[in-house]
Amino acid sequence: MHLDAIVIGAGFAGLYQLHALRDRLGLRVCVLEAGGDLGGTWYWNRYPGARCDSESHAYRYFFSKELYEEWQSSERYPGPAEIRAYLDHVARKLDLRRDIRFSTRVTAARYDEGTNQWRVETEAGERLSATWLVTAVGCLSSTNVPDIPGLADFKGRWFHTGRWPHEGVDFRGQRVGQIGTGSTGIQAAPVVAETAAHLTVFQRTANYSVPAGNHPLTAEFRQWVKSNFEEIRAVTRSTVNGHAFRISERKALEASPEERRAVYEKAWETGGLQFRGTFYDLLTSRAANDTAAEFIKARIRAIVKDPATAQDLADIDHPYAAKRPPIDSYYFETFNRPNVSLVNLRKDPIERITPNGIKTRTREHPLDIIVFATGFDALTGPLLAMDIRGRGGCSLREDWKAGPHTYLGVQIAGYPNLFTITGPGSPSVLTNMPAAIEQHVEWITDCIAHLRKNHIRTIEPAEPAVQAWGEHVQECARATLLFDAKHSWYFGANVAGKPQVFMPYAGGLARYARHCAEVAARGYEGFVLDRGRAAEAVAPTAQAGV
Ligand SMILES: Cc1cc2nc3c(=O)[nH]c(=O)nc-3n(C[C@H](O)[C@H](O)[C@H](O)COP(=O)(O)OP(=O)(O)OC[C@H]3O[C@@H](n4cnc5c(N)ncnc54)[C@H](O)[C@@H]3O)c2cc1C
Repeated sequence: MHLDAIVIGAGFAGLYQLHALRDRLGLRVCVLEAGGDLGGTWYWNRYPGARCDSESHAYRYFFSKELYEEWQSSERYPGPAEIRAYLDHVARKLDLRRDIRFSTRVTAARYDEGTNQWRVETEAGERLSATWLVTAVGCLSSTNVPDIPGLADFKGRWFHTGRWPHEGVDFRGQRVGQIGTGSTGIQAAPVVAETAAHLTVFQRTANYSVPAGNHPLTAEFRQWVKSNFEEIRAVTRSTVNGHAFRISERKALEASPEERRAVYEKAWETGGLQFRGTFYDLLTSRAANDTAAEFIKARIRAIVKDPATAQDLADIDHPYAAKRPPIDSYYFETFNRPNVSLVNLRKDPIERITPNGIKTRTREHPLDIIVFATGFDALTGPLLAMDIRGRGGCSLREDWKAGPHTYLGVQIAGYPNLFTITGPGSPSVLTNMPAAIEQHVEWITDCIAHLRKNHIRTIEPAEPAVQAWGEHVQECARATLLFDAKHSWYFGANVAGKPQVFMPYAGGLARYARHCAEVAARGYEGFVLDRGRAAEAVAPTAQAGV
């Protein structure tokens, strides 16, 4: 079957890309999705407590005012079922399902230079081809189960939060061990503890968290959202992180200690990621960050009654928000329950999993269920899970052995006509992702329209542009405290053997979007455009201006 474009993945990115290529450009498009239905992240992540950290009026598409205004969210933060219902609504409205094949995992994609086509192979052995290949595989869709010896011998049941059984897991009467205290673990623990006989949380890295402050939305707020589409959209497009709240223009140390405390207290009461927006230099000045970090650590110590547990939870070794900053619903309070205990793996590391539980250096913890809240092989994982081959059979797995190299996070040298939505080197996971996804989809769609209009056979980045972009990505990261949390998954540190390279673009979504628009306006500067005869490289003239 030959198509104009194949899109891999049916989450936020794949759905919008299908609509844009099919309904705006009139292309024949097919979406291939490994899951049994649409939803992406929210199809797979149904663990107890799962909820979006972006607010429901921002965690949506903005490309259609009508679509935006007709959807009503029920809570401040949508849960997986509501997000799936929203995406289902979008799919029905735009008649997307007819071009999506579910339960279809792409295993390989090979560029055929002779025919200028991408040949795609699925797990079932099906073959399809297309001129353009767009990966919408998500940044957090390859689950990471740490290689702890003994797991195969465990007699109980175990689950990864990112592949949660659709029928749910009954924790009643069960001794549960949860490994991982990132955003997911912090969401899951309070809910698991409500029904489990006992919950043991195994913590390697103590983490900050701020109350989410979730609540049902009032009719007034919903009306406000409906009436302020343009303004909300403008904020998501003008901020560094694509959220619908503005970041203060004040520096933390410009405020007196009393003023600062009042600001943090108010943000703590309001709840949510807005805590990050209290002062604009929290992620660029260690002294500023320390003030927020100390405030949160003091809150942890005040909430948790057992001093030793409080000390282990507040013993945080990285700046606030230098790792993905969780928000929670009664996470720290959970440790005051009689059926919950904490194991600090820095003091008492896991030695192995036994048939009956988890053995740490000092003792065995008997368990019926192990929950791996251990995250993902982020950003590169879903791309490298496929055998992607470009010009001359070059292999992405080989080419990215030492870390990913892209231009703008959207294209890879040697892989013509392949586009990567929210690829490494783009703002992706540092943003409210639907905002980053929309920017990418629209840029890719405009690019393909330009290629078709101008009879350009292929587009791919020139090596110098890739090199310059890679340096710029690292430079942006180094200018922030994100670079100080070397054990974060932004560096790939959670996956054994993964190259340690800071992967997302930390220069801000609005700045990034402006730069991408300028690249396009300058005739796709930094890309090589092949018109069929001689390839024409559009020399990067203004890299310094990014
Ligand atoms: C627990 C959790 C909480 C999150 N919370 C937030 C939040 O609060 N705010 C926020 O902005 N973002 C959040 N995210 C990030 C979230 O992934 C994005 O918001 C968004 O869902 C990304 O959409 P996507 O379409 O790019 O990718 P995904 O939703 O990940 O969809 C990708 C799809 O591609 C499919 N796929 C992958 N490989 C293949 C293959 N080889 N063949 C076929 N199909 C394939 C997958 O099955 C998946 O369905 C969260 C992620 C997780 C895991």
